[in-house]
Amino acid sequence: MHLVMIGGSDAGISAALRARELDPGADVTVAVADAFPNFSICGIPYYLSGEVTHWRNLAHRTIADLEAAGMWLRLDTTARRIDVAARKLLVTDAEGKEELLAYDRLIVGTGAVPVRPPIVGLDGPGALGPGDGVHLLHSMGDTFAVMRTLENTAPASAVIVGAGYIGLEIADALSVRGLAVTQMEQLPEALPTVDPQLGALVHAELAAHGVEVLTGTTVRQISRAASGQAARLAVHATAVDGTAVNRGADMVLVVVGVRPDSDLAAEAGAVLGLKRAIVVDNQMHTSLPDVFAAGDCVITHHRLLGKTYLPLGTTAHKQGRVAGENALGGNRIFAGSLGTQVVKIFDQAAARTGLRDHEAETAGFDPVTIESAADDHKAYYPGSHRITMRVTGDRATGRLLGMQLFGHKNAEIAKRIDIAATAIFHHMTVDAVSDLDLSYTPPLGSPWEAVQMGTQAWIRDTRRQ
Ligand SMILES: Cc1cc2nc3c(=O)[nH]c(=O)nc-3n(C[C@H](O)[C@H](O)[C@H](O)COP(=O)(O)OP(=O)(O)OC[C@H]3O[C@@H](n4cnc5c(N)ncnc54)[C@H](O)[C@@H]3O)c2cc1C
Repeated sequence: MHLVMIGGSDAGISAALRARELDPGADVTVAVADAFPNFSICGIPYYLSGEVTHWRNLAHRTIADLEAAGMWLRLDTTARRIDVAARKLLVTDAEGKEELLAYDRLIVGTGAVPVRPPIVGLDGPGALGPGDGVHLLHSMGDTFAVMRTLENTAPASAVIVGAGYIGLEIADALSVRGLAVTQMEQLPEALPTVDPQLGALVHAELAAHGVEVLTGTTVRQISRAASGQAARLAVHATAVDGTAVNRGADMVLVVVGVRPDSDLAAEAGAVLGLKRAIVVDNQMHTSLPDVFAAGDCVITHHRLLGKTYLPLGTTAHKQGRVAGENALGGNRIFAGSLGTQVVKIFDQAAARTGLRDHEAETAGFDPVTIESAADDHKAYYPGSHRITMRVTGDRATGRLLGMQLFGHKNAEIAKRIDIAATAIFHHMTVDAVSDLDLSYTPPLGSPWEAVQMGTQAWIRDTRRQ
């Protein structure tokens, strides 16, 4: 059995590792367009900040580790065409030399590419790019380009376009490096994937660390600054009321989301769905015979929403593992995502899982969201922090639908959201969360865990309504 994976990031490598684990005799080839297989691109912001001291440290595994697991790595090898009928993949190497790789089963893990918003100066003739200090950020190649700008031009200021979780991580990273950072976001509040009440807390944390946060601000144009200006670039934006917002900056990072990299599969005839992501079933089969797909290039099966597009590293790992197993003839099901995510913003963290009100309404629920706060551990023991919680449940059934948390980075926000994710995964009611036997000692918790206090507040307040 010869398996070929296209892509050497979370999905492709997870698939290859699982296949080799299940069948040490399987012939597994991974074609990777660049020379950086299995790098943790989620860690890029911490390399840019200097907290991760060398880019090589971002590797989940080294090339030697991957080869020791028994996969053939074809680096700097780009897949160009899938011949489904002949089960052959046309690839080119770094010099453009073509080769046909025969496969029994193929796994497409081409991931995503950054969205290029319609900003004048980003595209077309005379477009600005990394050499001018204007960057998009997704791959290790993009990271090296950003690092060259940071190290070779010693920028004093940066504009970050977008205040989603990656934009926030970069604002944190560049501030740690000593740059003056302005963040521009066209939506009304920072971190639009959480409710604006928590977004406002994120906004305040950015501001407390000197980041100028301009929400409701749409960037229209990036240009070279006129001579005599202190900064190298000029960023022109419009506020919601139509007034012009102009800022100078030595570098600009555009981080406004990703779109699935699905062209290769589409050209081979694969059916595409939402946002042009490759349609897969819950076993990661595409519509093409013997072709599986996983990761940021595919639609996401969501446990509450059905089909959506929710590109996350955790999901890519799971889907890759399922694809690797099933490509060998297995029967594994991808159980579905809840969109569980967490982000550190300076000294605070924000997290969410499941649905917010408007998403729950779209899915046919009758949601109520109740906000409350609790200490991460007994306040009499030094170093406790308040956690703000927003719990969403279904009014009719009492089912827990979602949770959002905000609190200090040492307040176990990530693991606390995982309690909620586990409860939602298993269809628990909000009330039943109080029955969970969770741990307690005063320096680390409370007899009622903070998440349980949040769910109890939901019960109290909804009964009152
Ligand atoms: C800065 C940053 C921070 C992030 N932080 C988090 C986080 O904290 N938590 C989280 O869950 N997620 C995070 N993510 C998202 C996460 O990194 C992605 O969801 C995950 O990497 C997707 O993995 P993938 O394998 O599907 O695709 P990708 O990582 O996009 O990789 C695609 C792979 O395919 C290769 N490829 C593409 N086309 C071809 C071709 N034609 N031939 C050969 N190879 C090809 C590429 O070279 C690459 O190896 C972050 C992303 C970024 C950019």
